[in-house]
Amino acid sequence: MKLSKRITGLTGGGSDGWDVFNRARAMIAAGTPVIELTQGEHDIRTAPAILDEMHRVAKAGNTGYSPVHGTPALRDAIAARVTARTGVPTTRDNVAITPGGQPALFASHSTACDPGDTALFIDPYYATYPGTIRGVGAVPRAVAARPDHGFQPLEADIAAAADGARSLLINTPNNPTGVVYTEATLTGIARACRDHDLWLISDEVYDTQVWTGTHLSPRALPGMADRTLVIGSMSKSHAMTGSRVGWVVGPAEAIRHLVNLSTHTTYGVPGFIQDAALFALNQGPALEAQVAAPFLRRRAIAAGVLNGVNAVTSVPCDGAMYVMLDIRATAMTGEAFANALLDAEKIAVMPGESFGRAAAGHLRVAMTVDDATFEDALRRLVAFAEARLAGKPVEISA
Ligand code: PMP
Repeated sequence: MKLSKRITGLTGGGSDGWDVFNRARAMIAAGTPVIELTQGEHDIRTAPAILDEMHRVAKAGNTGYSPVHGTPALRDAIAARVTARTGVPTTRDNVAITPGGQPALFASHSTACDPGDTALFIDPYYATYPGTIRGVGAVPRAVAARPDHGFQPLEADIAAAADGARSLLINTPNNPTGVVYTEATLTGIARACRDHDLWLISDEVYDTQVWTGTHLSPRALPGMADRTLVIGSMSKSHAMTGSRVGWVVGPAEAIRHLVNLSTHTTYGVPGFIQDAALFALNQGPALEAQVAAPFLRRRAIAAGVLNGVNAVTSVPCDGAMYVMLDIRATAMTGEAFANALLDAEKIAVMPGESFGRAAAGHLRVAMTVDDATFEDALRRLVAFAEARLAGKPVEISA
């Protein structure tokens, strides 16, 4: 039977850039030990107290349908949190609960774009972005954030791409680069959105993982609350990736319509998950700091290992759970380097090219294994790069 273009076109065809990841998984399945630094998944699990609460409320009967737009209590808690963190008055009418950040990205683009509309996104990008845009029938258009600008997108580049576009998707703290957008960057982005009448879809799922400076939500910038949809999630902040709970914060009218999409797709998030999320949020910043602490420690480990190294340099790691390495001095592509590293050292990292053209010649290293293993893997990666410094050709094993 014929399949729809929408479903067959989701991945964009060709390699999806996850070859190294898939090869590493196959090696592990075949019994070869591999140090996996590919995925944005904590090496800790959801806190037992959160699971106890989930179990308690489910046992007490909260296993039926829940309000499609989210429970009033959870929406109130998120509204209060957003108001406190950004200063933008926010009520439950501005909040829709979704089964994680990914459905929130889909719902936001569905809200902003009609089929055939152009939707901008910043390259390097989180792997699902172009497919999410294609999934709603819109047309993805990349705007490069270049390494020579510290992967900060420029207002002029957004403006140059904005003709005919309806929306712009940004992500700070950023996956894959670990970069946090500066106030100047966000001010420029906001101005480009106002000047070109774009929705801003602001993916802030890493907002509790900022290592230098503070997180600035562009919804708080002048004139932006009416045109910004913010994506939030419990996945990264509370190590609740498997619970599937996130949200969209935006103008009340947009949220009212966006919720209709949930009625026709997910029909909401289980009530016991929402209650557990509320319990987790009510634990306050201490729990968030505890979940973030391993990445802060490993960021310091990476800085120590990379200090004085020429073959590999680090993009400043200001947030999120990744360190992005520039390996252009080896004259290898990220893809060739990552494949050769996997074969020779049994260490799996993501090639920068998996996240777009702007990250070519880079590697994304997820800081998601224990400290000692992480340090050992980085030291071996550095030695591997040093042996391959441009001008010093070395046979690459297998
Ligand atoms: N946005 C970004 C930038 C991400 O890295 C991820 C997960 N890796 C998501 C959204 C989606 O996360 P979730 O659906 O688990 O909330």
